[in-house]
Amino acid sequence: MKGFAMLKIGQTGWIEKEKPKAGPLDAIVAPLAIAPCTSDVHTVYSGAIGERSNLILGHEAVGKIVEVGSEVKDFKPGDRVVVPAITPDWRSVEVQNGVPAQHSKGLLTGWQFSNYKDGVFAEYFHVNDADMNLALMPDSMSLEQAVMLPDMVTTGFHGAELADVQYGATVCVIGIGPVGLMAVAASTMRGAGRLFAVGSRAKCVAVAKEYGATDIVNYKQGDIVAQVLEATKGKGVDHVIIAGGGEDVLAQAVNMVKPGGSIGNINYFGEGDSLPVPRLAWGCGMAHKAIRAGLCPGGRGRMERLISLIVHGRLDPSKLVSHRLQGLQGVEKGLALMKDKPADVIKPVVLV
Ligand code: NAD
Ligand code: ZN
Repeated sequence: MKGFAMLKIGQTGWIEKEKPKAGPLDAIVAPLAIAPCTSDVHTVYSGAIGERSNLILGHEAVGKIVEVGSEVKDFKPGDRVVVPAITPDWRSVEVQNGVPAQHSKGLLTGWQFSNYKDGVFAEYFHVNDADMNLALMPDSMSLEQAVMLPDMVTTGFHGAELADVQYGATVCVIGIGPVGLMAVAASTMRGAGRLFAVGSRAKCVAVAKEYGATDIVNYKQGDIVAQVLEATKGKGVDHVIIAGGGEDVLAQAVNMVKPGGSIGNINYFGEGDSLPVPRLAWGCGMAHKAIRAGLCPGGRGRMERLISLIVHGRLDPSKLVSHRLQGLQGVEKGLALMKDKPADVIKPVVLV
């Protein structure tokens, strides 16, 4: 079969591989829609997960099952399914400890696709533990909506969970690419009052307002901490969700969050050995400013709940889709769009 792969750090290309086989609990899926991600860009061009050779890329897909293992109970060939980016090994001690994304194989290893096994940018891909990791895709949901679930929706929503957004709270979302925009939508759903979105591109700003942002802060027009403090009369915000930016954003979040407030990070920090936390603004470690950070939750239960939000009209993630490409080969252009980020790109989708 054909797949679009990382050949080595900095280089991609099309390769041929054996079609994967299903173990007793597994499924083989043919993609219907896939989406390239900022994380694929980090994997290939920043060496985020180290050197890999001929690793098929991609972790965001919906597809049609072509084969299931002998022990799979709830799915059959022909079913259309949402496939989460994170497909934990549900028979693990880490799951019992409440962190299915962090396996004994190492940090973040609940993330399997395009990390330590081939990803979804191929004619077929392998899903471990199908009954626990797949969710049926309802007919009422479009492919564009569905393919935002495996990563963009679950990650942005996790940002709001990590920040523990409360009713009526003042929230700031730093970074409004597709993940941050879903954090805006999630904060709105969790009852945010005033909702700052930090971004600069007109298209993202417009969508942020549609998802519920009440105030826009442009990080290219001055210090965002000063802008947020001025707008809140020096008080700051109750919750910050970090979904973009470089090594300075954690310090900015600590500086703008109130004592007793909380910061949820879903951003990838790609540089340096450590991240600065401002000592005084953090109350010398005693300001009750919580910092929580995590990988997007995967698994069937999580996908089924997020599907319910779409099916019942509470969320339409297709507003993120800025580009539509046709055919598997479109993934090459899609990845280039995510890498170069022209101003009109939020998220490209490839309809296979
Ligand atoms: P993206 O690059 O499309 O969006 C990030 C946005 O932040 C961009 O629009 C960029 O212009 C903006 N930005 C850059 N510097 C900024 C600054 N100083 N202040 C405010 N905004 C700034 O990426 P995305 O796909 O939306 O993903 C966001 C982040 O989440 C990335 O770091 C990605 O790697 C990470 N991610 C994490 C998980 C997870 O499981 N935790 C999953 C997916 C993506
Ligand atoms: Zn992704």
